[in-house]
Amino acid sequence: MPELTGDLDTILEWADEFRTLGVRANADNPEDAELSRNFGAAGIGLCRTEHMFLGDRKQIIQSFILHDDELIREKAVADLFAAQTGDFYGMFKAMDGYPVIVRLLDPPLHEFLESPRALDVEIARMEAAGAAAEAIAEKRDLMEKIDSFAEQNPMLGMRGCRLGIVYPILPTMQVRAIATATARLKKEGLDPRPEIMIPLVSVAPELAKLRAQAEAAIAEVAAEEGVELDIPVGTMIELPRAAVTADEIAQYADFFSFGTNDLTQTTFGFSRDDVEAEFVPQYLTERLLPFNPFATIDPGVAKLVKMGVELGHEGNPDIVCGVCGEHGGDPDSIQTFNAIGLDYVSCSPYRVPVARLAAGQAALRQR
Ligand code: PEP
Ligand code: MG
Repeated sequence: MPELTGDLDTILEWADEFRTLGVRANADNPEDAELSRNFGAAGIGLCRTEHMFLGDRKQIIQSFILHDDELIREKAVADLFAAQTGDFYGMFKAMDGYPVIVRLLDPPLHEFLESPRALDVEIARMEAAGAAAEAIAEKRDLMEKIDSFAEQNPMLGMRGCRLGIVYPILPTMQVRAIATATARLKKEGLDPRPEIMIPLVSVAPELAKLRAQAEAAIAEVAAEEGVELDIPVGTMIELPRAAVTADEIAQYADFFSFGTNDLTQTTFGFSRDDVEAEFVPQYLTERLLPFNPFATIDPGVAKLVKMGVELGHEGNPDIVCGVCGEHGGDPDSIQTFNAIGLDYVSCSPYRVPVARLAAGQAALRQR
């Protein structure tokens, strides 16, 4: 496991003496969490729980989404709960005594479903191999069902908190798993500090609803386990509407984390997944854009962050504000975030040392 040693460690300790901006890491497994601690992260600013649903786990979510049979759905939820409780137990243990912000499921539904194109290929192969008609028909049914979930613009569709509003059992399952892992660690004498983050909120009632649901689930687990649980609930601010109505949203939030990847995408209307395509490189060559706004925070997007922080404090004077988009590890963006008055940045583990240094420099320059 890499660690910081020697001169670099000393320089970073100097930077830490000056900086006021906290530095956390984005991590979703105990190994990365430990690496983040070695690099000096003061907690996990973003644990993307969808990363915990790769491989076989995807099948459990798929069976929850696609089956109408209540028993199959209940079994899928129980399996997911058991798996997530183990995931969170490992994460919180690795970060004992440090905050861990767990974001509830965020991606568009289709990311949890098999690809219709792959199923089509499989059906063709089954037909060529002379497979039983019944088995082929079953695959076709599955493909049609998955197709019925197709969206024209999945990144603007059923994702983020919208998933939780439509399938309330999913966030409840995750919150129960977070609370149960916390209760178990507390009983072992550890100091787990989870926080729950709701993604892609655009209107305050979404957060009000999901927060109430989360609080009810936490209270239930606390009673079942006989342990006191105090778990903050906050939200990502990653849509322009959320930034400009942050005073309303903050009334239901203990913290804000600015998702500058999505905020950049939705402010510009540029796809974050196609940034290398066609027009952006030309824009950069012709200096229509001074730099890639997905790498370094754009001044227009930064204005929205500033507005979000200011309005957020109007709605909740105690609100804690951070950034967890890629920009959180970029030195130029860190200067901007420091000037805006954010409380922390969160970045990938390997960028933590650079972020500590940049935060120290930003504080010195602001003197
Ligand atoms: C973001 O949008 O900036 C963010 C951190 O979330 P994700 O990259 O997972 O969408
Ligand atoms: Mg996002």
